[in-house]
Parts: sequence; C-alpha cells; structure tokens
Amino acid sequence: MISEFLSKIKKNKPIVLYGAGVVGEICLFSFKQHKIKVDFFCDSNTARSGDTFEGLKILSPSELKNLDKDTNIFITNNYYVFLKKELNNSGFKNILDCELLLNSTDFSKSNLSVSALKVERWVSFYNAMVKREVFKNEGKLYIKSLDIQVTEHCSLRCKDCSNLMQYYSKTKNSNIDILFRSIDRFMSCVDQLYEFRVIGGDPFMNKEMYKIVNFLSNYKVETIAIYTNVKFIPKGENFECLKNPKVILDISDYVLLDKSKRKADELVRLLDKNNIKYNLAKMKTWTDSGRILPFQKRSEDELKNLFNFCCNSDIISLLHGNLYRCPFSANASNLKAVPIDDTDIVNLYDSSIDLKDLKMQIQKLVYEKEYLTACNYCNGRDFSTKKIDAAIQAPTNKALYFKSYD
Ligand code: SF4
Ligand code: SF4
Repeated sequence: MISEFLSKIKKNKPIVLYGAGVVGEICLFSFKQHKIKVDFFCDSNTARSGDTFEGLKILSPSELKNLDKDTNIFITNNYYVFLKKELNNSGFKNILDCELLLNSTDFSKSNLSVSALKVERWVSFYNAMVKREVFKNEGKLYIKSLDIQVTEHCSLRCKDCSNLMQYYSKTKNSNIDILFRSIDRFMSCVDQLYEFRVIGGDPFMNKEMYKIVNFLSNYKVETIAIYTNVKFIPKGENFECLKNPKVILDISDYVLLDKSKRKADELVRLLDKNNIKYNLAKMKTWTDSGRILPFQKRSEDELKNLFNFCCNSDIISLLHGNLYRCPFSANASNLKAVPIDDTDIVNLYDSSIDLKDLKMQIQKLVYEKEYLTACNYCNGRDFSTKKIDAAIQAPTNKALYFKSYD
C-alpha cells in the first residue's frame, strides 16, 4: 500500500500539504511516520500566510502558484473535490490525496491535538471524501454521515446556535414513525454510510431518544455519535443506550457558561465507570454562523464560493422526514425563514416515490448542488468567518425575530 503511495510522488519536487488544520496535522504525522519530508503547508486563509504550522511555513495560494507545476500537492482539508478542480485549472499536474498513507499509519502512539477516537473518524471522513468522485461515477451513494435531528427542544438557549434553536417559538420532538420510515428508506438507497449523528437541540430532551438510538444500531454503520451540551445528566434508558458499542457521546463543554449549567466533569466520571466512549471538547469560541440574515443578493459566483468553503455544506441532515444538505438549510426551511426550494429538499417518507427515484434525488442533492437557496440567508462557515464567544445565552426565552416566507 505504501509503495503504491510512494510511486505517486514526483522525486526532487517539493511536497506541499494544502490545508493547515486538523486534517493537515494528522496527515503530517503520517508523512513523518513514513519518514517522508514535507516542505510546506498551504492554506486558503491568507491571514495565516507566512506563519508556521507544525514547524513548516504556510504558503498563501498565490505563493503556491509560483511553484513548479510538478510540485506534489496533497490536499489535506475537507475541500478535496473543489480544490482539485481549482489546482488543475491553475496548471498543477500532481494533485494527490493521503488515503493510502493514512491507511498505512499507526496512530496508536500519536500525540495529536485530537483524541484517538476523533482521529479515527477524521481519517474515515477524509477517505470517504477522496473516494467521492469514484463513487459518483459508479452511480453509488456514499455518505460520510447523516445528522438526525430528534428534537427541536434544547436545555440551553444560545443566541448564536448554528442549528437556529433561538428562532423557535414552539418546539417539538421528531415524530418517531416518520423518523423510522425516513431512515429506513434512506438506508435502502445508500450504498455506504459511515456514521449516524444524533442531534437536537439537545437530543436528551427527547425522552424517547433511546428508541431511536437502538433502532439506528441495527444498521450497518461504524458509529452513532450523540451530541450533547451536557447541561444535565441523562438517566434511565437514555443513559443505558449509550452502552451500545457503536455509540460515541460527543460532549461540548461550554466553558463560558455558569458552573451550574455545566455537568461535563460529573458525566465523564459516569461514562468512564460504565466504559462508555466519548469525546470531550472544552469550547470557548464558535464561528459566527448562527444567524438568519435578510436576503443577501449574492451573485452566483459568490454563492458557489460560500458553499464550496463552508465546512457545513456536506452535513447531510434529516429533519421531520426531509433530507437537506446542511443543518442551517434544514432548520431555516423548517422555520420557513427562507423561501422553500424543492431542489434543496428530498422527501424521504413519501412512499409513493419509488426507491430508484429516491436514490436519484438523493444523489442530485449530495453530488450536484453547487449552492443552496439558504446560502443567501446565511453567514457561511469558513476560515474567514468571525469568531465569537460560544454559548452566550439569549437574554429572554422569546424567540428571535426572522422574516417568515410562510
Ligand atoms: S448551540 Fe446551544 S441552543 Fe443550539 S443546540 Fe447547542 S446547546 Fe442547544
Ligand atoms: S446555508 Fe450554505 S453557507 Fe449556510 S451552512 Fe448551509 S451550506 Fe453553508
């Protein structure tokens, strides 16, 4: 495997890793383990140009353009398909991925900034992303993860929630029959899915969350990640279902919140005692992505650019039986805060649509979208999006105003 990888590298030409973030860090670890010298990082965020990352200089995209067109460029971020096209258009001939290298790496003794569990998930997501074009050409549907929103209720009311909970005046749990039917039809169309992600609001606000988790565990997926703000400790069957070996609890501990609202330490002790897998992220900042904007009048090129660099544009999301390309589009459409665009939504629960048609509709949503109607009402989510304090609570329980397209 590694010899096949090495054979793709042009000798005596520089090696550049395009993407100086978590994926870049993981890939660099792999290069070092195999004693392959890397010369530079490159990153689209020009504010970082000239800085170093993991001891290597970060080039700007325009500095990269001045290098030999035979430079070995490894894409080490989440924008593989888009960047490959861009770099090809700039004349680069050796644009590569790290799949074979990552699969030949032993991460057990790594000292990376993310936990071993996260590394495993990042590597799987990365490998799925680079295979995407192959799957597409073969007519197959490979989806790295499906966000399943099990409730609109949340135990917090963050004014900048990127899932738009602060705009809901009336909240409800997802109907379990619609949910099960939608997931079943979705899974009948998909050739491979790596991970279910159970989200809310706070999924534990749904007292029947365990039924959904148990249902999901019957499908062939690697993991079921459940996301929580850990404002309270789950009890009863909602706690018991976490013992399923496929489950990983993803805990966001918002460190700026009052201590009385943070139960992460207590929960972690309980999880350790019960051998339940988890990731714990102590969060201080977010990107400023949790706002419904008035119509932005963006040009088609601006929309494509926003979408291509948005780290959420590939978070396939299920809400009330409909499939969306990102959680913002799901919740903004559900709230009717954006005009409904039928091409941005796939109805999963309507059994009059046969599975062959349904698969084609999902393929169009997953492979062919260049931007969404919702992108014209969204701040986007890329390296340039402003950072804000995480989980600042809205001053009142009153839902924030938005213009309704009902
Ligand atoms: S960001 Fe805040 S309001 Fe939104 S789902 Fe998470 S905890 Fe709830
Ligand atoms: S609406 Fe567009 S810009 Fe906003 S999160 Fe979704 S894909 Fe990204």
